[in-house]
Amino acid sequence: MKKFVGAHTSAAGGVSNAVYHAQKIGAKAFALFTKNQRQWSAKPLSTEEIDTFKKAMEVCGIAPRHVLPHDSYLINLGHPEADKRQKSLEAFIDEVERCRALGLDRLNFHPGSHLKQLSEEACMDLIAEAMNRTLDVTEGITLVLENTAGQGSNLGWRFEHLAYIIERVHDRARVGVCIDTCHMFSAGYDIRTKEAYDISMAQFGNIVGFDYLKGMHLNDAKPDLGSHVDRHESIGKGKIGLEAFRHIMNDPRMDDIPLILETIDESIWDREIALLYSLTE
Ligand SMILES: [Zn+2]
Ligand SMILES: [Zn+2]
Repeated sequence: MKKFVGAHTSAAGGVSNAVYHAQKIGAKAFALFTKNQRQWSAKPLSTEEIDTFKKAMEVCGIAPRHVLPHDSYLINLGHPEADKRQKSLEAFIDEVERCRALGLDRLNFHPGSHLKQLSEEACMDLIAEAMNRTLDVTEGITLVLENTAGQGSNLGWRFEHLAYIIERVHDRARVGVCIDTCHMFSAGYDIRTKEAYDISMAQFGNIVGFDYLKGMHLNDAKPDLGSHVDRHESIGKGKIGLEAFRHIMNDPRMDDIPLILETIDESIWDREIALLYSLTE
């Protein structure tokens, strides 16, 4: 097996539930929030919760490198206001420590937003600085920047944004990138035909580099190419279409990393996972 497909499963009732949910839908990988994603703070994970999670990983046969935890939506490492940026940094460091406690090795996050109060460069400098500060005080976790659709003032929709940030991080061994297919398409990178896919992925390879690819979010898109709107759709039912996912499932550059569904209808995730595996040639 070379492809590890899963979904962002619910950790309601305890983080180990996300693992069992993944197993139930035939997933070989999964994503989760290690705390409530809409709140700033959470009580630390108990030793019991950590042990139960590690046991679940063992029982379900899922390796840490196939898990792509996602941070809270509240965090903005590039926030123009210093006190809010500091609050984000502290919450982010806590997220990294939670992942570490669970025996995981990476954390997926959205780069940040300038909120029309900073230039793109100034905001990205702040994001890189926050990443450096986080890397200084933590260990073992790779910080995985996700490309965005570029909705509002969200940065990270151009591959150049990701490269700019990575260039300013001191410990590049602990930086990664997650490509979200919906965001990529909505940002203007076409992947529908094999020709378009090859061109867009070559751009990623040249500007960022596949060595940094530590996960993908497999989502079809409701919006059109280049619309900068972040709205996911079930695989094969949106503007991207099924063929793009066939290219991914047969691309060795996506081997051995978590390929995570964040599609809108979780009742069909089991079928979407089976569908994706059926595309492998
Ligand atoms: Zn995503
Ligand atoms: Zn999205």
